[in-house]
Amino acid sequence: MQTPLKVAIVGAGLVGSLLAIYLKRAGHAVHVYDRSPDIRKIQFSGRSINLAMSNRGWRALDDIGLGDEIRKIAIPLDKRAIHLVGQPLSYQNYGNEGECIYSISRGVLNRQMVTLAEAEGAEFFFESRIWDVNMADATLHIGETEKGPWEDLKYDMVFGSDGAFSRIRHRMQRQNMFNYSQEFLNTGYKELNIPANPDGTHKLDKNSFHIWPRHDFMLIAMPNLDGSFTCTLFMPFEGENSFESLKDKETLEAFFAKHFPSTIEVIPNLVEDFFKNPTSTLVTMKCYPWTYEDRVALIGDAAHAIVPFYGHGMNAGFEDITILSQLMKEYGDDWKTIFKKYQESRKPNADAIAELSYRNFMEMRSKTADAKFLLQKKIEKRFSEKYPDKWLPLYSRVTFSFRPYAEALAIGDRQKEIMDEVMKIDGIENKWDSNEVDEKILAFLEA
Ligand SMILES: Cc1cc2nc3c(=O)[nH]c(=O)nc-3n(C[C@H](O)[C@H](O)[C@H](O)COP(=O)(O)OP(=O)(O)OC[C@H]3O[C@@H](n4cnc5c(N)ncnc54)[C@H](O)[C@@H]3O)c2cc1C
Repeated sequence: MQTPLKVAIVGAGLVGSLLAIYLKRAGHAVHVYDRSPDIRKIQFSGRSINLAMSNRGWRALDDIGLGDEIRKIAIPLDKRAIHLVGQPLSYQNYGNEGECIYSISRGVLNRQMVTLAEAEGAEFFFESRIWDVNMADATLHIGETEKGPWEDLKYDMVFGSDGAFSRIRHRMQRQNMFNYSQEFLNTGYKELNIPANPDGTHKLDKNSFHIWPRHDFMLIAMPNLDGSFTCTLFMPFEGENSFESLKDKETLEAFFAKHFPSTIEVIPNLVEDFFKNPTSTLVTMKCYPWTYEDRVALIGDAAHAIVPFYGHGMNAGFEDITILSQLMKEYGDDWKTIFKKYQESRKPNADAIAELSYRNFMEMRSKTADAKFLLQKKIEKRFSEKYPDKWLPLYSRVTFSFRPYAEALAIGDRQKEIMDEVMKIDGIENKWDSNEVDEKILAFLEA
């Protein structure tokens, strides 16, 4: 237990609500503010977003005994199902036997997290927009409009978990020596839906992450508990195959018939959903420092927003909490040290997962359809099964291990150099599972 403080959390998203539970357990008084209405009282529409929860996310929940509660609303996915035009469906396991990621609705999870945090004694204030913070004395400014009038709310400490466009960070940006960058992809996304069969079963294999890779664009689908799938179409905003080019019912239907013929049967409301649902942007945001004295700290997307192609935004945010909590145990009431160590430890890892996520954008939309890439994955998998202590594939290190993201990025780069050489072996297609290949990899690893 630490000396109890009065703590404000701005943002009742996934990270803010989990942080509220951790801080309550550490003995603090916790108030959570969110500009939106209580998520438990609103209907979801058009932007339901399914998340892949993996080991880092589960660890943050399991450490405080909440994992099993959340597992009830999650569906395990042990493989990718790859849909190519004119070819049979193929599958690619994510990891070893028993290793999977979990599909979970962001909205359903958020509702559950708020309920759990409230049960711990955290107080939530919805429809409460924070406009600014006075960092020196941890005072929040709350009000109806940006122009005021504002009320002052004084705390001992403030956490900004208010997402990629954080107001708390906005204030930090006005400090000297504060670094900040934001980069939008020219690819956006739109949600579509595969409804359940009349008997409530799923129309596609429910334990797969479905992907229709088409180079510049791709469609993915993740299962929901009610038998439906949430689909996400990622596509450039402008250009030949783009959101801009799909202007009307006819072009949209012709586009799907050409590029996603296998979805025609399973997405009955394509036209309605496509034109009703918003097209959303994707941003990578980096900044530093994340903390101010022992008063203010950024966490989750407010500190590091990444593109979603590794499925790690929330997982990384939850891992921020794991690390913060470990530091709280180690340094007790010395919040200056806790904040300093927290940002020093997390920043390189946040940058690494940002880079890995961006690279996976390329990999998912084009390489998962590439025969050479699939062969390379097969070679890696075989080698890592034979020599598990010598080779952990990058995806597994990121998703199924707790090793730092920065380490995964560095080792992944080395593995890529090795695999580039292996793929140059004459006739590799015919001897991919030979001793010659094993020996070559072993020699590179020892070099
Ligand atoms: C399409 C897509 C797919 C994704 N897939 C995955 C995935 O598979 N796996 C994964 O781990 N992550 C995924 N993510 C990322 C994940 O959704 C985010 O990393 C996560 O939601 C971040 O949580 P957060 O609590 O930090 O921020 P947010 O969820 O953005 O919550 C911020 C909260 O702050 C509130 N707020 C904002 N401003 C104010 C203010 N001024 N005053 C008061 N309240 C305020 C907002 O209302 C909101 O409730 C995906 C994201 C997208 C867009």
